[in-house]
Amino acid sequence: MVNLVLFGPPGSGKGTQSVKIAEKYKLVHISTGDVFRREIRAKSELGLKVQSIIEKGELVSDDLLIQILENEIKKYPDAQGFVFDGFPRTIRQAEDLDKLMAKMGEKLTVVLSLTVNDNEILQRLLKRAEIEGRKDDTREVIENRISVYNAQTQPLIDFYKAKGILTDVEGIGSIDEIFSHLCAVIDAH
Ligand code: AMP
Repeated sequence: MVNLVLFGPPGSGKGTQSVKIAEKYKLVHISTGDVFRREIRAKSELGLKVQSIIEKGELVSDDLLIQILENEIKKYPDAQGFVFDGFPRTIRQAEDLDKLMAKMGEKLTVVLSLTVNDNEILQRLLKRAEIEGRKDDTREVIENRISVYNAQTQPLIDFYKAKGILTDVEGIGSIDEIFSHLCAVIDAH
């Protein structure tokens, strides 16, 4: 199995790139943000529980995340591997993911970290807000998501560097350029 984590700040392009990677390598793409948006649209119990948290740009609790991830993974018993997009976002989630992988007799192949500076991110997300109208793309919420990222998710970079499985990829350039850099890293593993 090939199990990838695509890691990066909000607006780094990880969603777009994850879809392309999943398609090329025939992997299952799991975006926890997409799962939440789907549940909110369906007004499910989970959706109602997480809606206000997401609209504020805060993180949903770690306990819920690992359950959701496990449920998603179980839907694809024949998968050749996974691309995790927007997960993990905390050290606790990363540790839970390691345990889950071990339980499956698997491990993470590589963590791809898309690097984009804060100013570029803010501009991209404001632009996306105009196009997609996501509720968590207002300036105030975007600024909160960037600071939540810096406080809670950024520490994962050192966590994965210490394990020797993280590779930085510049997240600025055309979609195809960035995609080919990501593929070069995946192909080297
Ligand atoms: P995303 O589409 O990845 O930007 O996720 C949208 C929102 O869903 C985030 O701002 C969080 O509120 C929530 N979310 C998604 N993934 C996670 C996660 N791994 N841990 C906690 N909250 C998450």
